[in-house]
Amino acid sequence: MSFRVTVVGIGPGRGEWCTPAVRRRLLEATDLVGYERYLALADDVVGEPLRGRRHVSGNRVEAERARLALDLAAGGGEVVVVSSGDPGVFGMAAAVVEQLEADPARWSGVQLEVEPGVTAACALASRVGAPLGHDFCVVSLSDVLKPWEVIERRLDAAAAAGFVLALYNPRSRHRPHQLRRAMEVLGRHLGGDTPVVIGRQVGRADQQVTITTLAELDPETVDMSTVVLVGSAATRRVTNGGRVHVYTPRRHEEARGCEDDAVGPGASSSREADPAAVQGVWLLTGGARAGKSAHAERLAARTGLPVTVVATAEALDQEMAARIEEHRSRRPPGWGTVEAPVELAAAVDAVSSDACVVVDCVTVWVGNLFHRGIPEGEIEVAAGALAEVLRRRRGPALVVTNEVGLGLVPETALGRRYRDSLGRVNATLAGVADRVVLMCAGRGVELSVLDPVGGGGTP
Ligand code: SAH
Repeated sequence: MSFRVTVVGIGPGRGEWCTPAVRRRLLEATDLVGYERYLALADDVVGEPLRGRRHVSGNRVEAERARLALDLAAGGGEVVVVSSGDPGVFGMAAAVVEQLEADPARWSGVQLEVEPGVTAACALASRVGAPLGHDFCVVSLSDVLKPWEVIERRLDAAAAAGFVLALYNPRSRHRPHQLRRAMEVLGRHLGGDTPVVIGRQVGRADQQVTITTLAELDPETVDMSTVVLVGSAATRRVTNGGRVHVYTPRRHEEARGCEDDAVGPGASSSREADPAAVQGVWLLTGGARAGKSAHAERLAARTGLPVTVVATAEALDQEMAARIEEHRSRRPPGWGTVEAPVELAAAVDAVSSDACVVVDCVTVWVGNLFHRGIPEGEIEVAAGALAEVLRRRRGPALVVTNEVGLGLVPETALGRRYRDSLGRVNATLAGVADRVVLMCAGRGVELSVLDPVGGGGTP
């Protein structure tokens, strides 16, 4: 009598990719529990008859299957629950623990063990080189156990953070359009030429592996027996002896000494260009002298693209003239500067869409509009127009602004109106920004969108 449940992963389906530990458990089992297809696959993988009694079930009844396995073990069985790949990756291991959590007393005499297997993403990665060579995320596109909005939010965050992605359950007959939508979300942060690897029936007789790009991915070639790897901006192809290897370098560009935050942009301009570092619209907000402009300039230098600074300050007095000069002198000589104290949207629009634009800064621009007596309503319309111009650009935009409402309430009515107006302008610009960073004392924290329904998100 064994009173044991072992959840095993048989790997993707090739005998050699099943560990000896899993083989042993399968051969010793008195009871085999699993989805019909995986039990059949276990026979093939082990290559000799499994003697255990079979308890087959449909694909979607994991909780029932887990309870059955625990009950069989409580009766003295050596029970093996069969998952494909690794049992901990969208497999049965969590489903069994979930049952133990729901009713701990019922199976207190049962011992639970988990034996790992080769998960689909790693199996596919091995066929094309090393696409998972750096940090990666594993996301299931199935919305059976979590809402689609959560999936989109996670894809967005993962791509923005530079992770390579492995997508499981990518497309089913019930939800044929979601993969395309997922690619659109990833496309907010990744170029169309980002390598994508599609693996169908990896490790099995009819394995199909395709290397394509984000722009060229054909969702029709993807089904539920497929796993999809989407590269990061660093992922590339290397050809060796006619064979293409997809790989993601282990070293991140920033590991080459970019942590020199106190140093101006001149230091980074000689660095190898990393266009991946900044894409889309970034809003850098924070207090005075927090390091926002210097950071924006550093990021701009890192893109390796031509840079135009759209400056909003006017040298109306000596103090302002000195500040403008200080900013200008620390910028690399090749950068263009355009002055736009009032017509900011038009000035940004006039910069080549492929260049990197630095808007420095929104705070002074709103102040300029106030000084000219422009009503708040019109200022907000102008901010909307600026947001639209930023949203449409192909190249990166780094927009500097201030959080002026964090301290004391301004003493004058004008000051209070200015504070409120700038707060609303910032929110409008944040609405089109891919990333919003709050800076303080030369450091920054990335701000995330708050969930309107209040903190949900765990499937
Ligand atoms: N536990 C499994 C994953 C189960 S979720 C593992 O670790 O691999 C089911 C999803 O896994 C499928 O929709 C598909 O995306 C992926 N998958 C599993 N085996 C696969 C294989 N041999 N080839 C391609 N994808 C596979």
